[in-house]
Order: sequence, then C-alpha cells, then structure tokens
Amino acid sequence: MSKFYEESEISKDMESKVRKMATVVFGYGNQGRAQALNLRDSGFRVTVANVDDDYAKAAASDGFEVLSLEEGASRCDIGLLLLPDEVADTVYLKSIAPNLRQGSTLVFASGYNIFYGRIKPDRSLDVLLVAPRMIGAGVRSLCAAHKGFPVLAAVHQAATDSAEQVMLALCAGIGAFNPGGCVLRSSFREETLTDLMGEQAVAGSILYLVKAVYGKLVERGVSPEAALLELYASGEYVEVFSKAAEIGLWGQLRLHSHTSQYGQQTRGPRIVNERTDEILSEILDEIESGEFASEWSKEMGSGLTRFRELWDANMRSEMLSHERSLYTRLGRRPSG
Ligand code: NDP
Repeated sequence: MSKFYEESEISKDMESKVRKMATVVFGYGNQGRAQALNLRDSGFRVTVANVDDDYAKAAASDGFEVLSLEEGASRCDIGLLLLPDEVADTVYLKSIAPNLRQGSTLVFASGYNIFYGRIKPDRSLDVLLVAPRMIGAGVRSLCAAHKGFPVLAAVHQAATDSAEQVMLALCAGIGAFNPGGCVLRSSFREETLTDLMGEQAVAGSILYLVKAVYGKLVERGVSPEAALLELYASGEYVEVFSKAAEIGLWGQLRLHSHTSQYGQQTRGPRIVNERTDEILSEILDEIESGEFASEWSKEMGSGLTRFRELWDANMRSEMLSHERSLYTRLGRRPSG
C-alpha cells in the first residue's frame, strides 16, 4: 500500500528550525511565485533568485528580496529549483552548483532532471522532490483559501538526517496538508513517468481526438460553431472532469443520460482498443528509456524547428479560424 504522509509526522522542533533556514526560490514563474508566497505566509524566510528581468521585478513588487542566481545559491540552506525543466540543468551547472554550500538542500518540483541524470547533485546535498499535482495559480489560490492539493514527495538523496523532515515541512509550508490535500510518498521516476504519460497520452490524445471529431462532424454538414460548442467551447467537459475529480470517473458517468451512458461505454472502447494499448506501451517505453527526453533535447538544440512547425500547422487550421470568430462573437476575445 502506498504511503500518505500525515502532518503529525512533522516534528514541531524541526518545523520551526526549517522555517528559520534561508529558503531561496530559484525562478518566479508559475510554481516559483506560488510556492514563494505560500512559504512566506507560512512563516518561512524566503528570498527569490532570478535573472534581472520582468520575473525579478514581479518578485520585488511582491515584497521579496531578489538575488542573482549565483548569490541565491551561495546563501541558501534550502533551494527550490522552480525553473522550466528544459533549462534547469544548464542553469544549475553554470550558476547554482558551483555556489552551493555543503549540506544544503536542493528541492525539485519535477522528477525530470534527476531521473534522466541531467542534473547530478553533489553527494553532500539533500535532494528532495516536492511536486504539486496542481498548476501554480491553484497552489496559490487554494493555500490562500486554507485548502490543500496533492503533492508527490520523495527523498532522492539524504546527506543529512533531516532530509525527510525538511521535505515534510516544505509540503506543509506550501499548503499541501490543508484540508483537501495530501502528500504521497513517491520517487523521481514515478513523478516523471506519471507526469509525462499524463501530458502525452491523456492531454495529447484529447487535443487530437477533439480535432478529429470536429473534422468528422463538419464533413457531415454540422456547422463549425455547433461542433465547437459541443466539443469544448461550452465548457461542458470542464464540468465532466470536475465531477470526475469530485465523485470519480465512473461516478460522474451516472450524471449523464442513459443514452449517453450506453453510447460512451459501447463506442469508447472501439476508439481505445488493443492497438491503443500497444501505443501506450510504446509511449511509456520512450519516456522510461529516456528516448523522449533525448529527442526533446535534440529538438531544443537544433533550434526548435519541428516544435515551431507543429505550432504553425495547428494555428493555421480551419478549426482555429472558426474558433476565433466564435470566441469574438461570444465576447471572449476582442473583435477586429
Ligand atoms: P516557469 O516557466 O513558469 O518558470 C519561469 C521562471 O524560470 C522565471 O522566473 C524565469 O525567469 C525562469 N527562467 C526561465 N528560463 C530561464 C533561464 N534560461 N535561466 C534562468 N532562469 C530562467 O516554470 P514552472 O513554474 O511552470 O515550472 C517550474 C517547475 O515546476 C518545473 O520543474 C515544472 O516541471 C514544475 N511544475 C510545474 C507546474 C506548473 O504549474 N507549471 C506543476 C507542477 C510542477 P527569466 O525568464 O526571467 O529568466
């Protein structure tokens, strides 16, 4: 059985020690801003480290002292590396690693760089995972409302005896133990596999399935507007997934008509079938073996040519031009 940590497992002495440590948040984007604000509200001594630009200005205007990346590394007891995964390894190697003090703690919000060996922290560091299963805006707004969110947490490397306690104190500090939240003992491998598989297989297939179903309906004479409203513009599926989170995937199915329940359970498996199972295994193999990560690194190294081509092709699609007109009509984007 998997282990869920309890807030009562945090030693109060340790928690108050951790709050007094110098906590430096590297990066002030989605997670950086949310976690820095939550930790400060929870009584942690938080400083932000960022390149001197708009993100640094945002941190300063939220009242944080903002340091350079190098200075942040040299001053931190606990460093939260909240930079995009695709740049974190380079930034770590160049600006952070050479300046870290022995015995300090390095915290990741994603398993990517450790699991793929792109960052190899010095043996003298505690290396932790505190990975919210929640976008940054949600991490902030839920905590501000004294509500929690799920976190995958792990100790990858324990150079000191306090690694797990620091991890739990951070989970509490960002609000994960608030009502509705939970902290699941995980690993950098598990976080990477679940995160990338969810993105690629669930979110990726939803995008292209919606596009294909739109094309099929329009091909049969349905108006683009009726198709778009049905498939996502109405927000009906926001409700469906929100109910799934609340009462379960099949629990929410009971809220649909019997016609819909029968149609979903007979036609869904025709689309998701044995061949899909093979494809899912292929995609997961590519994730686990590092093949996807090295393909993505090569893509970034060669100037993101394919990435841009994919974006361009999707932006030029006929579906999006109908979406633009519909959203203008609905007042969701300015006309003209
Ligand atoms: P963001 O893209 O929002 O991070 C932006 C920050 O990174 C800015 O402060 C930016 O500063 C800095 N940054 C970007 N490029 C560089 C660079 N080359 N050198 C130095 N700083 C740079 O990241 P996220 O918050 O989305 O992700 C942070 C971590 O959290 C990742 O590990 C991610 O996997 C994880 N995570 C993210 C979630 C989310 O909600 N997005 C959910 C759960 C986990 P500047 O551009 O000024 O340099």
